[in-house]
Amino acid sequence: MRQITVLGATGSIGLSTLDVVKRHPERFSVFALSANSQIEKLFELCLVHKPTFAVVASAPYASRLQDMLRDAQLHTEVLYGPAALDQVASDPAVDTVMAAIVGAAGLSSSLAAAKAGKRVLLANKETLVAGGALFMDAVAASGAILLPIDSEHNAIYQCLPTVYREKHPVHNGLNTAGIQRLLLTASGGPFRDAPLASLKDVTPEQACAHPNWSMGRKISVDSATMMNKGLEVIEAHWLFAAPAAQIDVVIHPQSIIHSMVEYVDGSVLAQLGSPDMRTPIAYALDYPERIASGANRLDFTTMKSLTFTPPDLARFPCLRLAFEALRQHGAAPAILNAANEVAVAAFLERKLRFTAIAELVESVLARMTATAPASLDDVLAIDAEARQTAVQLIPALAT
Ligand code: NAD
Ligand code: MG
Repeated sequence: MRQITVLGATGSIGLSTLDVVKRHPERFSVFALSANSQIEKLFELCLVHKPTFAVVASAPYASRLQDMLRDAQLHTEVLYGPAALDQVASDPAVDTVMAAIVGAAGLSSSLAAAKAGKRVLLANKETLVAGGALFMDAVAASGAILLPIDSEHNAIYQCLPTVYREKHPVHNGLNTAGIQRLLLTASGGPFRDAPLASLKDVTPEQACAHPNWSMGRKISVDSATMMNKGLEVIEAHWLFAAPAAQIDVVIHPQSIIHSMVEYVDGSVLAQLGSPDMRTPIAYALDYPERIASGANRLDFTTMKSLTFTPPDLARFPCLRLAFEALRQHGAAPAILNAANEVAVAAFLERKLRFTAIAELVESVLARMTATAPASLDDVLAIDAEARQTAVQLIPALAT
């Protein structure tokens, strides 16, 4: 029986995880669930999964949830705040941690799980973008097992040579495994073919309506700007010890091939599946065993075509900015990430145009001169400064 903590249980990835968990009661038992503010939703999940702990953002939320649980005669203990997230991510009773909080808010608890040597199922890509070196060092030092949940990275992981994967892909470098390059596929989002002039008038509703995937709002906007693919390039860099020059992005609108690995002999291995996050989640939950996920099977008799084009960096400046941040290294990826979080939130609140997201990120990167972070505190300080800089720049870009 694996004891599981699901951080960000009420989100898109959290709910998909619990859907897979519920299909295999003989394999998994839920130790802790966390949510930020959606108390009712978390209460419903507690009724089903009966965790030992539930974690929420603040004391008032905690006391409300504790009352609801007591009335339902459940013994779940409610904790609150960031330290409680770290605690349920590193508790000795826990075997597996699903890190599915959105944004840099998930960094500390992902790191706590890595330091404690857990099986870390990493959905929170911002952990690697903001604190990649720190996080990978923690994984190496503790012997944690790191399993990527992001569909592209999960696909690449599945296409790695077995020996390489089980040693831990990350510390060897691509060349020792005979890998030429990693090919990250991208759908291109809802505005892949929209007239360029129309992008400035895109609404949050349009940006969140992804053609293939159903996801949280932040990552949906990131997919529409292709910042998501940029963050994933940086994520791949850390996970697979891949230099920027060995990572390519290819637009594949059907989202059937989830990514590919090209070897020096010319072989290309790809992982395919319907666009359903339960597939990578199930792969990681009981790795190396395969378990049913509930995802629809691919039907090759009705699939019309799989197409591929290079990304247009003029249409998607966020992708260019992410590649540049990766090449700069140091603090740049953490700055990029924080500025993007502020820009996306402002866009969702209709304070910033869609096209100003990239403008804001570029301005913040140009203004800040932080040195490479050496600790969690350093990352958090860079993150805070970038957010503050971004907030100050919003009025000038909000036209
Ligand atoms: P979501 O917005 O649906 O859910 C986010 C979860 O995090 C919620 O449970 C929320 O309560 C919690 N949360 C938000 N802010 C928090 C804070 N400050 N402190 C503590 N908890 C907080 O997001 P999602 O789409 O499930 O994405 C989660 C992560 O997984 C993101 O990093 C995203 O990039 C990554 N990811 C998601 C998908 C997807 O299909 N949704 C695919 C690949 C990667
Ligand atoms: Mg992805």
